[in-house]
Amino acid sequence: MNVDFDAASLSARAIERRRARAAVKAQIAAGTVNILELYDSAETSNDPVVTGLRVQAFLSSIPGVGATKVRRALDRAGVLPTATLGGLRVLQRAALRKEVVRLFRRFYAHLRGALVIIVGPSGVGKGTIAKWILANHEDFALSVSATTRAPRIGEREGEHYFFVSPSRFDELVKHEELLEWAWVHGTHRYGTPQAPVEDLLDQGVNVVLEIDIQGARGAKRKIPDAVVVFVGPPSFEELERRLAERGTEDTREQKLRLRTARRELKTAERWDALVTNHDVAEAGQSIVDLARASREAKNFKE
Ligand code: 5GP
Repeated sequence: MNVDFDAASLSARAIERRRARAAVKAQIAAGTVNILELYDSAETSNDPVVTGLRVQAFLSSIPGVGATKVRRALDRAGVLPTATLGGLRVLQRAALRKEVVRLFRRFYAHLRGALVIIVGPSGVGKGTIAKWILANHEDFALSVSATTRAPRIGEREGEHYFFVSPSRFDELVKHEELLEWAWVHGTHRYGTPQAPVEDLLDQGVNVVLEIDIQGARGAKRKIPDAVVVFVGPPSFEELERRLAERGTEDTREQKLRLRTARRELKTAERWDALVTNHDVAEAGQSIVDLARASREAKNFKE
């Protein structure tokens, strides 16, 4: 065996790894690598460049994160500075992940998906537009709301809504699990579960919410860079016709919805964008373009 040769190749490999690690750190610093994906990949990765990266070096490569922030994050998670990304114990990994998520949302907003909130009067075609977006654009997902109303025929649990009891809804509100919630048409409560939305945004997926106006206000307060798009009908008469044609509500309920619609139409120009639903594909594509433009804009934000 040629000992000298082995030693040489070993140190060559070590140098190579050090170089590769420096490249990863440079990518983190440039904001081109998703730190959350990198962190999660270390759990199962076989790549020594990733698994051998020290948590301290990893965190301090993040722009805006100085020595004090790193120390505090490590203290909170109970992790030693010398630990490596691949060498964390289960509880440490989970605790440090919370810190990484926090830093990711703060310093890598440009890598997160856009939150698009579609509002507009009942019967205007929000649901159809949302479905069109999902069917035609893989980088979009629809958030599933919780509601206290009963399922309609053909509606499935977890697909159209999470159908919950009033007391379960109270719990969701109490434990702050909803991004927003509201009484809609004065009869039932509807709300957006927050954690699934945030997780999808972290994965770079654009999330569509189809909610009422009060809910949009609440969501925008919590996530200010959300894009609220108001979808309007070509005319009020057309809205009346569409609602009657849909036939999912009785006459009394239709009247109630039209009254709410008049009120909502007055708010149209207060939102981030207004899209008139002449044609589903055209309206859907406009919303997709707005979402993509808002992500582009984040690339230039400090
Ligand atoms: P529907 O009972 O016809 O399924 O929905 C009635 C209205 O509830 C929809 O027009 C929609 O705007 C609103 N809605 C659905 N989900 C949510 C939600 O999670 N939050 C809020 N605030 N409104 C919702």
